[in-house]
Amino acid sequence: MNYDQIFDQAIDRLHEEGRYRVFIDIMRNKGAYPNARCFHGHNGPKPITVWCSNDYLAMGQHPKVIAAMEKALHDVGAGSGGTRNIGGNTHLHVELEAELADLHGKEAALLFTSGYVSNDATLSTLARLLPGCVIFSDELNHASMIAGIRNSGCEKRVFRHNDMAHLEELLAAEDEDCPKLIAFESVYSMDGDVAPLHEICDLAEKYNALTYIDEVHAVGMYGERGGGISERDDAARRIDIIEGTLGKAFGVMGGYVATNAKVIDCIRSYAPGFIFTTSLSPVLVAGVLAAVKHLKESSEERDAQQANAATLKAMMTEAGLPVMPSETHIVPLLVGDPVKAKRISDILLAEYGAYVQPINFPTVPRGTERLRFTPGPMHTDAMMRELTDALVEVWDRLELELRQAA
Ligand code: PLP
Repeated sequence: MNYDQIFDQAIDRLHEEGRYRVFIDIMRNKGAYPNARCFHGHNGPKPITVWCSNDYLAMGQHPKVIAAMEKALHDVGAGSGGTRNIGGNTHLHVELEAELADLHGKEAALLFTSGYVSNDATLSTLARLLPGCVIFSDELNHASMIAGIRNSGCEKRVFRHNDMAHLEELLAAEDEDCPKLIAFESVYSMDGDVAPLHEICDLAEKYNALTYIDEVHAVGMYGERGGGISERDDAARRIDIIEGTLGKAFGVMGGYVATNAKVIDCIRSYAPGFIFTTSLSPVLVAGVLAAVKHLKESSEERDAQQANAATLKAMMTEAGLPVMPSETHIVPLLVGDPVKAKRISDILLAEYGAYVQPINFPTVPRGTERLRFTPGPMHTDAMMRELTDALVEVWDRLELELRQAA
């Protein structure tokens, strides 16, 4: 057995398909985001502008978040020192869970080390606890939900993206008495579209199914207090389990679910991904606590971010760039070819100091490869104008088609 050859072939396949991933080596400039330094290439570090961060509201550099983390580091030290059950349950963890439960109007919440783990651990545990459970999963659900569903070992039915007629057809085909769970996202982060929450809840009520929503790209971003699309659309009370991340709009790291106290008790008691791992560092928890509290009271960051996303979409559309339809803060630009998407990203970074990663299969379907821009509250109109002009030049150079300028 030639192990090296097998590994070489695996990597070669990615190169051949143009989807070999290259990590860009950067340092963000504290207090000056989206400015950063890039250590890539020969004469670095050189200044760049970040266009693809999921620290959507720049909370990762907010003075309140930094101060809370510094204080926690000095007060209690670096790590939690254990699992939640054995030494790693600090008062900060308890306080953050109460804050998150309140954010979503639920009885309780439970922290995990990432959003990925929260989806995997919760979905796999819930479905295993419900004998004969069938999970109904939107076809564009995130890899972590798919992993959780697979790890539950239960039956899965995949419904076409946001297609309520198809979801109903699949629900109606099942035995009335079997436990059912509908798993979906609110904001689908690669396209920027939103699920019809109330229509899904109507079907869940009609067919007696539980509902599980991933609000990873919406918490902190939508709703008066940052409770996500379920808050904005007044649907949180109708959804059984709300999952979110602490690593995107809340700017730090970690994940959670919020639901009723009984379900939380079950997950914390049965989910290996929760039980057998060191809990989040209290330093991270303190930072998140500051971010969640701040975004419950302040809409300034959300409003500025939405305004900038609208401006960038308008500038790109006016320049004839193929902006994909998006109802949210995500600005996806269709390329439709993995090699070209990578080439555009390389040129933007090397020649224009603009950092945006290409998004290729399997994150998005083949043929829909794209660049995904996430302007934040601190990107200026001048930065957006510069970026748009650069994109038009690169589009022209690579002989890509521009739409009729609007
Ligand atoms: N759910 C969705 C829809 C995501 O896009 C992601 C990450 O990008 C996750 C879950 C995982 O969250 P985290 O980055 O906190 O692990």
